[in-house]
Amino acid sequence: MTVYINGAFCPLEEAKVSVLDRGFLFGDGVYEVIPAYGGRLFRCDHHLERLERSLREIRIPNPHTREEWCGIFTRLVEACEGDEHGVYLQVTRGAAKRDHAFPDDIQPTVFAMANPIVTLGREVLEKGIDAVTRPDIRWARCDIKAITLLANVLMRQEAKEEGAMEAILVRDGLATEGAASNLFIVKDGTLVTPPKGPRLLPGITRDLVIELAETHGLPYRETDIPETELRRADEIWMTSSTKEVVPVTRLDGQPVGEGKPGPVWQRMYDLYQAYKAALRAGTVTG
Ligand code: PMP
Repeated sequence: MTVYINGAFCPLEEAKVSVLDRGFLFGDGVYEVIPAYGGRLFRCDHHLERLERSLREIRIPNPHTREEWCGIFTRLVEACEGDEHGVYLQVTRGAAKRDHAFPDDIQPTVFAMANPIVTLGREVLEKGIDAVTRPDIRWARCDIKAITLLANVLMRQEAKEEGAMEAILVRDGLATEGAASNLFIVKDGTLVTPPKGPRLLPGITRDLVIELAETHGLPYRETDIPETELRRADEIWMTSSTKEVVPVTRLDGQPVGEGKPGPVWQRMYDLYQAYKAALRAGTVTG
């Protein structure tokens, strides 16, 4: 497997990072995951815009132009087997003597790799997934795509141990997002998702779902979802770049709506797959 590390492509086994890297010592860095279908990068500009914002917010200079980033991703995808890929990229502040405050003249560490994506199978989508609610134990800047994912890791692990695939996070009585996904509910035919802000990651898949709803006349609102509304929802979906749009059919062991994927989900799933097909065919650009 070929990876990219600090300006060079090399086999995975040869990629090395200092033990003084602040990503390793402090979780001081940010990341992105960008899908590619048939070799075409999915919403690459949107991902790079979010990367630029994450870097700005934590004060790491962006080591590459958009053209350079796209060149790196394309080369990694071309070197990887399969047809559907997830490009993972991570930028940390770099290596320096351990100190919480950072030096001014530090070089960011850049790492990127491409892996085949395994999307959820038809049988899982037909049945829907289980989710559990969890108090959101993360920090107050969940809008930054930070590599510091300990809280997400623990909450997702708890979900797994309860036989669920995702944890839905609740803060101040509001359901905000998943441990690694954004949240949508459907109530009386209207799609609802929480507004962007520091409580959640501005998901690229979330934006596309809203764009598709807008284009195809599905009613939607960006508004808070109290936990009580979550439990009364007709449909619940989770969205992410690698899982796409997934119906939740059991919440904390109780059926959601009729306990099977709903009609609005089916419509959005079809629109999403059509969008992917258009990307492959080159009729949409990203
Ligand atoms: N929220 C969190 C906490 C996430 O980790 C992710 C996926 N990394 C998302 C939302 C979904 O974002 P995207 O659609 O850009 O993959």
